[in-house]
Amino acid sequence: MSTTTPADLFELHRTDHPVPDEERAKLLEHPRFGTVFTDHMARIGWTADGGWANRRVEPYAPLVLDPAAAVLHYGQEIFEGLKAYRHADGSIWSFRPQANAARFARSAHRLALPELSEDDFLGAITALVAADRDWVPSGEETSLYLRPFMYAAERFLGVRPANAVEFLTIASPVGPYFASGGVQPVSIWISTDFHRAGPGGTGAAKCGGNYAASLLPQQEAYAKGFDQVCFLDVAGETLEELGGMNVMVVHADGRVTTPAISGTILEGVTRSSILTLLAEAGHEVSEEPVRLDELTAGLASGEVAEVFACGTAAVMTPIGRLASDDFDLTVGDGGAGPVTVAIREQLTDIQTGRAADLHGWLYRLV
Ligand SMILES: *Cc1c(COP(=O)(O)O)cnc(C)c1O
Repeated sequence: MSTTTPADLFELHRTDHPVPDEERAKLLEHPRFGTVFTDHMARIGWTADGGWANRRVEPYAPLVLDPAAAVLHYGQEIFEGLKAYRHADGSIWSFRPQANAARFARSAHRLALPELSEDDFLGAITALVAADRDWVPSGEETSLYLRPFMYAAERFLGVRPANAVEFLTIASPVGPYFASGGVQPVSIWISTDFHRAGPGGTGAAKCGGNYAASLLPQQEAYAKGFDQVCFLDVAGETLEELGGMNVMVVHADGRVTTPAISGTILEGVTRSSILTLLAEAGHEVSEEPVRLDELTAGLASGEVAEVFACGTAAVMTPIGRLASDDFDLTVGDGGAGPVTVAIREQLTDIQTGRAADLHGWLYRLV
């Protein structure tokens, strides 16, 4: 007797026009983040009457969307981001996808979208990567980025949760996050004019609306000569996170602090994994309010040694410079600190199969 897996429920409709091998090989040489997509996409439809139905992997193609589709007007949409890694033996794995599935369900709940089961989430990524396995690059710091998302597809301009919803997963091969190779520090502007989240808002949900609201502050930081923005809580006293990455502070005595999950911060899978690895490496870690005044004093006195941002796309990014209206401070010597570099290497070694997966974090796709 054979056992069925969640991926078996997805009917495979192969494209008649796959990208030819030679062209694909060329695209995989230097993929720029989010610009190249694979031959297929996974898809499930949902209606209030029928629930989730019609699981399939089909040719990657533009969507048909009614101009009155609710998502275009009221932004009822959520997404996820995770990666598939090719190991040396050719097998393909993802990293803690159950955590992404659980977060996707929490985001759905907050946006009044139907929750997708863990089985359907894992089934979709597994079936898609199986169909497009040749698109998973091999090589240092490469992976296939997976983007599950869900949106209100119902044609209706009334304001209420949609009765028709689409769930899709698309995939995009990615090369090293830092074009120059290695790990480059970024400069951060701390925004006092804008906030990304407030108590009771959608800050803890991974929804497109949060990103839309972060674009203007990001643009302003860029115009001032900074790479990214860090947001503060609504009182302007404590650090929250960047537009798409969590933030951590390494103290000179080895302690690591990071803002606690409070409802206004996205609960990063990378954040949680790093906290585990740091604790195992003997660091005292605490999830507590990170006060801006204490951080700037600590940077000035040398009590703060490293600051880094973390998320699936870049894993860990050292922050070399932190500035706002009334200060401009270099973090350490402005370069990548030893704790950031060591934990980043440890985490990427686990993801890519170079180190043993002692935590059961890897999930086999192919
Ligand atoms: C996705 C995201 C993160 C990082 O989460 P990971 O699970 O580590 O990729 C952090 N902050 C925000 C706002 C995000 O959207």
